[in-house]
Amino acid sequence: MLKVLIVEDERPISDLVELNLTASGYACTCAYDGMEAADLLERYTYDLVLLDVMLPGLSGFDLMDQIRPLGIPVIFLTALGTTADRVRGLRAGADDYLVKPFEVVELIARVESVLRRAGKGDEHFTVGDVDIDVRSMQVTKGGVPVQLTRKEYELLLLFVRNPNIALFRDTIYERVWESDFLGDSRTVDLHVQRLRKKLGWQDRLSAVYKVGYRLEAAR
Ligand code: CA
Repeated sequence: MLKVLIVEDERPISDLVELNLTASGYACTCAYDGMEAADLLERYTYDLVLLDVMLPGLSGFDLMDQIRPLGIPVIFLTALGTTADRVRGLRAGADDYLVKPFEVVELIARVESVLRRAGKGDEHFTVGDVDIDVRSMQVTKGGVPVQLTRKEYELLLLFVRNPNIALFRDTIYERVWESDFLGDSRTVDLHVQRLRKKLGWQDRLSAVYKVGYRLEAAR
């Protein structure tokens, strides 16, 4: 599931964007001021940022300095419809912009187009006889659909995006559950066991002593 960070201090707009993007299958996180956004960007990874320009704390332009090195595509949400501000936004590295008020269909179309250009959204992974289509969230094994819970799916994506790398339990927990790891590894272990069972991955998802787990994929 693609992750979108919505940085917008006007609640009605933020709520509207979140509601519609969630309905379209995106995982949304909302930040209501610049500092909150900066903090989230430091701690988590996102596939796209929707960025308001006029924000309390740090402005959208200030945040661009932090986002650009991360390589995350950005769509500016701006009330400032003047050409000068649009140009400034694009010069700052934004991939697109939307002038408020905007229509929901336009929002979705821009989001899809920016993600497509960034090479996201049509991701596809094959590991052994397991196929994962990110856009449709379809997982099949030997051509047969596998039903996964949302967390099992997120966990699977984390593994296939990081093949042959030992992932720490706390990293896994923080990425998939998006909250701080408090030392209870049972949640991670339980979900790994379920994935192993559903995908027949007893040998592929190997335990790494004192670390966590590693997906053994063909190199
Ligand atoms: Ca604003």
